[in-house]
Amino acid sequence: MSLSNPWFIAALIGVLGVFHLEFFATLLNLARLSRPVPPSLAEVFPEETREKLVDYIRDSKKVSFTREVTLLGILIVFWWSGGFGWLQTWAESQGKGPVITGVVVLAISMLAQTWISLPFDAWDTFGVESRHGFNKTTLGTFITDHFKGLALMALLGLPVAAALVWFFQTQTWAALYAWLFLAGFILLMTWLSPRVIMPVFLKFQPMEDGELKDAIFALAQKLDFPVAEVSVVDGSRRSTKANAFFAGFGKTRRIALYDTLLKSHTTEEIVAILAHEIGHNKCRHVPTMLILNLLEMALMLGLLGWALKSPGFFAAFGVSGTPVGMGLVLFGMIYKPLGVLTGLLGLAMSRKHEFEADAYARKAVGSHQPLTDGLKKLSRDHLAHPEPHPLTVWLHYSHPPLVERLAALQR
Ligand SMILES: [Zn+2]
Repeated sequence: MSLSNPWFIAALIGVLGVFHLEFFATLLNLARLSRPVPPSLAEVFPEETREKLVDYIRDSKKVSFTREVTLLGILIVFWWSGGFGWLQTWAESQGKGPVITGVVVLAISMLAQTWISLPFDAWDTFGVESRHGFNKTTLGTFITDHFKGLALMALLGLPVAAALVWFFQTQTWAALYAWLFLAGFILLMTWLSPRVIMPVFLKFQPMEDGELKDAIFALAQKLDFPVAEVSVVDGSRRSTKANAFFAGFGKTRRIALYDTLLKSHTTEEIVAILAHEIGHNKCRHVPTMLILNLLEMALMLGLLGWALKSPGFFAAFGVSGTPVGMGLVLFGMIYKPLGVLTGLLGLAMSRKHEFEADAYARKAVGSHQPLTDGLKKLSRDHLAHPEPHPLTVWLHYSHPPLVERLAALQR
């Protein structure tokens, strides 16, 4: 751990540089809250709503900032007091061989991060979200959600971790094999997630027959988009925030709508929102993003393979030798700045896709009005920042700010 080790410098930039960039972006974004609401949003955010919104955004930033500072503080103290070296020595002393040792180190670091974050999650849910009237989660649901999450992480994460450690421990072409393995895993998860994983947390029920269901099937038929089933999801059990999504592929495709969306939106608005989602499919946005993600993963695994062979990389964290599992834990810190860069690209692409899907929806329903109204409602109900700072948009926004979307829709 010395400044003459380039890996140490890279890790410092990764950890401290990205933290300060985020902090700076947040400050700029918060400063914009004191601006008057842009004229096109005046009816969405009347003075009274605006005050609520400023209050809500400041409150939730307080939680995320305290969380980040705490995680950073603990990481730096652990790192600079030789914690990683100590953890590795302890894990090896159990005498279980490199793969199990690696998985144990990965699992411990994941658990530590999750449990350090947990009080902040609770503060966010029961402090901030409750105070602003969003939260519907009970303490019981919160706790069972946490343990279900941990069980899933163990069930899916441990075998993947074991496979990755094994590849990099034993294979010359480890990065390539790991890439193929992870690509397969991602495809499997896309298929499994709505069928097996989401039902662990949410209840899916077939939508009752009626005007809305007829309108949805009519739209799907008009746009030549096969839909097998429309489900309603009990999002209201956790939050008042609304959502809609598609699950599955081709003829087995299901549409899932949050019950909260049904409560707050008209049939025309819901149909327009679904036309937007169908637009994503028709414009091939899903495979495009998947390919981008796979490319980024190739870059990441290539770099990882290189880092794992350099004793300097491990020395930067006070670890001796080249233990693979520990390397997977530490690599995240080195990769952070690059991750920000690839994130900028991916998010810019995603925002472009949103404009395309909006344009598709406008054409599909023959008017911009229902989507405009629907988007305004969603934005108001989520108390979204009316005019986020461009730096925050670049770093975090997968959707363009509402003002830009509305302007594009009316063009
Ligand atoms: Zn979209």
